[in-house]
Amino acid sequence: MTHYVSNRPWVAGVAGTLVATAMAGLTLLTLGAGRVDALNHARQNSQNLVSIISTDLARNVEIYDLSLQSMVDGARNPVTWTLPASVRRAVLFDRATTAAYLGGAYLIDANGEVAAAQDDDANTTVHLDDREYFQVQAHDAKTGLYFSHPFHSRLRGEKLSVALTRRIDDAQGGFAGIALLAIRIEYFQHLLDRIDPGGAGSVFIVMADGTLLARKPYVARDIGASIGKSPTFQTMSSHDSGTYIGVAAVDGVSRMYTYARVPGTPLFAVVAPAVDDVLAPWRHRSRLAGALTVAFGGVFVVVSWLLAFALRDKQRAQSALVRLAATDPLTRLSNRRVLDQRLDEEWRRAQREQKPLSVLFIDIDYFKRFNDTYGHASGDEALIAVATCIASVARRSVDLVARYGGEEFAVVMPDTTPQRAFEMGERIRRKVESQIIVRGHDTPLTVTVSVGCATATPARGDRSGGADVLAAADRQLYVAKEQGRNRTSSAQWDESVMQGAVS
Ligand code: GH3
Ligand code: MG
Ligand code: MG
Repeated sequence: MTHYVSNRPWVAGVAGTLVATAMAGLTLLTLGAGRVDALNHARQNSQNLVSIISTDLARNVEIYDLSLQSMVDGARNPVTWTLPASVRRAVLFDRATTAAYLGGAYLIDANGEVAAAQDDDANTTVHLDDREYFQVQAHDAKTGLYFSHPFHSRLRGEKLSVALTRRIDDAQGGFAGIALLAIRIEYFQHLLDRIDPGGAGSVFIVMADGTLLARKPYVARDIGASIGKSPTFQTMSSHDSGTYIGVAAVDGVSRMYTYARVPGTPLFAVVAPAVDDVLAPWRHRSRLAGALTVAFGGVFVVVSWLLAFALRDKQRAQSALVRLAATDPLTRLSNRRVLDQRLDEEWRRAQREQKPLSVLFIDIDYFKRFNDTYGHASGDEALIAVATCIASVARRSVDLVARYGGEEFAVVMPDTTPQRAFEMGERIRRKVESQIIVRGHDTPLTVTVSVGCATATPARGDRSGGADVLAAADRQLYVAKEQGRNRTSSAQWDESVMQGAVS
């Protein structure tokens, strides 16, 4: 693993970046889930509030209805009308007195005139036959409990009220009047007092046709007005309960509307906290988490890439060292160490594959004299030039050209026959001979080399090694020197003999 990464430093950087990205992704997912949670929590909260308002309303309307029914029963009993006024009032309206926010309780006759009132100083001279709550009951015997729109009371000094009415039938089933309970509009506003919809939120009670009965925050002129045309209300009126997010046309604030129809009434209770308020704590947390993630993730990525670059530099330095340890500093050829190693490897391969392994041993002629005459600097230059010459001839990738030491070089040539080895030796010898080796003196200087060739095709079980082939090449080098230098010698291939054999 360590080895894998140190050979591929970028892996550290990429891995670090991936980990940081994955962490950021996880944070993002968590934050997304947190947003959903916040909205769900707000919805549950709103549902509870809606349910409180709704229960309260339903219960009170039920109580009012009981009062109305007892008023209807009283009115239909002929005995009631024979009683003295004060007793009659007590009989007709005893239950109604208990109801809170009651504006007044009345019996209205078929002409729209007040037949009896709970409050004895009520203005009973008015006519109410034009009222919606009267008309509806007069024309439809099956109306039951009727819940009116807000109106300005004629009986109680133009106070804004809502009426609950029930029809009174005469003995033949004809219209005999109505029982009427007036409820002060403040009742609805009072219900909302203890509900806190938060900052820019709102809570309201609205009739099914969009008539607003109460709203918090309270705006006097909105009460009794219709919001029936607003798109936020239209979504609501088509279901009995639900939640949706909508932008209010009035103030452009996005709110989460949770609503429910109040059972037994034409009313909706609606709680609508502003989405911004609901999400504020979540946004705060998200900003913090986001900033921390970006900061830590950024540091993590930077550190991983710093590590990657450090690893790369270390790797480069290491391979430079390895190269240096294998290279002869003057000629840049492989050094003796590499030569010994490769010789052994190639010898074993030749044995395995039963292929001939050839080695050339090359030595510059009279080099001591060259040095003595032209100086060591020119001698070094000549060494470099000869090395370049040899390398340019032995160019196969499997060939190894090495500096053996001093002015001696070796070439290892796998899968090479004695003839081919001899030819390579000759080519090197001729190339060095023909080349101007050192410039910059009065006359251009040249050198020559002697080459010894040896080839082995080691049999299986052969216990000798690469060094023996090199030694054989060295012996042939000695032969070449003996024969007068600037020549190539091979024990296994003699060009003149072979040429003679051919001709
Ligand atoms: P021959 O091989 O033809 O028999 O004669 P030679 O003069 O080349 O023989 P010898 O091997 O005795 O001489 C080797 C000389 O090579 C000795 C030294 O002056 C020279 N030499 C060896 N290594 C270096 C080197 O790194 N730089 C230089 N300038 N000269 C070197
Ligand atoms: Mg020598
Ligand atoms: Mg020499």
